[in-house]
Amino acid sequence: MKKNLVVGAGFSGAVIANLLAAKLDETVVVIDKKEHIAGNCYDYRDENGIMIHKYGSHIFHTNSDKVWNYIRNFTEFNNYKHMVLGNIDGIITHIPFNFNTLYDVFSKEKAMKLEEKLCANFNKEAKVPILEFQKQNDEDLKELAQFVYKKIFLYYTTKQWGVAPEGVDGSVTARVPVYLSRDNGYFQDKYQGIPKDGYTKVVEKMLNHKNIEIKLNTDFKNINPSEYDRIFYTGPIDEYFDYKLGELPYRSVNFKFETFNKPYFQSNSVVNYPTSEDFTRIHEYKYYLDDKSDKTVIAKEYSENFELGKNERYYPIPKTENTELYNKYLELAKQEKNVYFLGRLGDYKYYDIDKAILRALEFFEENFGKEV
Ligand SMILES: Cc1cc2nc3c(=O)[nH]c(=O)nc-3n(C[C@H](O)[C@H](O)[C@H](O)COP(=O)(O)OP(=O)(O)OC[C@H]3O[C@@H](n4cnc5c(N)ncnc54)[C@H](O)[C@@H]3O)c2cc1C
Repeated sequence: MKKNLVVGAGFSGAVIANLLAAKLDETVVVIDKKEHIAGNCYDYRDENGIMIHKYGSHIFHTNSDKVWNYIRNFTEFNNYKHMVLGNIDGIITHIPFNFNTLYDVFSKEKAMKLEEKLCANFNKEAKVPILEFQKQNDEDLKELAQFVYKKIFLYYTTKQWGVAPEGVDGSVTARVPVYLSRDNGYFQDKYQGIPKDGYTKVVEKMLNHKNIEIKLNTDFKNINPSEYDRIFYTGPIDEYFDYKLGELPYRSVNFKFETFNKPYFQSNSVVNYPTSEDFTRIHEYKYYLDDKSDKTVIAKEYSENFELGKNERYYPIPKTENTELYNKYLELAKQEKNVYFLGRLGDYKYYDIDKAILRALEFFEENFGKEV
């Protein structure tokens, strides 16, 4: 029987471990240097019965039938549909900027005129990235684009990435569109929701197999790799190679938690602060599973640079020089025998949960010739 080591008990590691154990009947040791499973998606119920997402709000959404069919072997989902509000100079309104936002921030006459012009210039339901939206000839739409850029995008993006929007990659700015619709949904995916018992329980079920052994508080650097036939490494690829080509940069996040003796703090799970405050947004957790409590827990999210040994890696920074550095590590990775890199840290790529799962499912199918 082959002996496998999976480094990292997040979704990427858990899916691979589950498939090796269940589909190939092989033994798997899963290690994680953290004291818990589920990686970045770790959640837990606090003393008030509220499900807390330790590393920031996680909302499941996918258009992939493959991922949806797979994950539902381990959980049911509720019907939660994510919506984001923003506090723009004290007005609470919808983000991304859509037709409802238009009527919240402008007078009715002005909003109607702008809506007419928007409909004449863009396709219905179009999602136009803000930097694209700015390229207009019409004076009114130009003014609107300037408003959206300044009031929703500029300060928020500067806080989140630590640089002016022009210094941020197009793939990131495309995530902040102007949405020509009255749909306030943040995601338009076919399948959306929150696992009914939380994400940690999903990962626990994936790893609950007689062939799988889990070792927490265990760092790969203290493991003897030669004891294993194969290694699936979902930790940071630069760390695996002792940073010999340099460090891959990340943005990090610091969450400041507060508990209040009242049922709710704000009117929505997430409220962004694009015109004020040092933090980017406030998360209020009880909305996700509709937890009943006379208390509520919020987290204010502060963005900062990742520094080794000081904080966690959150977002890979998409920039040409970082991709080039990653590609050099990838060349080294290809020379490793029986070591496979995947996951958001192994691939140095921002993956939503569904994309991390899909990557692991497809990786397994390609390498082991078994359909999932
Ligand atoms: C702030 C934030 C919000 C997000 N919100 C959403 C959302 O709403 N919806 C969505 O779909 N996705 C969201 N995501 C993405 C989601 O978190 C990832 O898709 C998912 O965590 C990827 O799982 P993974 O297993 O690849 O990585 P991880 O969850 O990071 O797991 C990697 C694991 O490897 C372990 N590890 C690392 N190095 C070592 C080592 N040397 N030895 C042992 N163990 C090691 C780590 O401790 C970690 O547990 C969000 C991400 C961030 C940063």
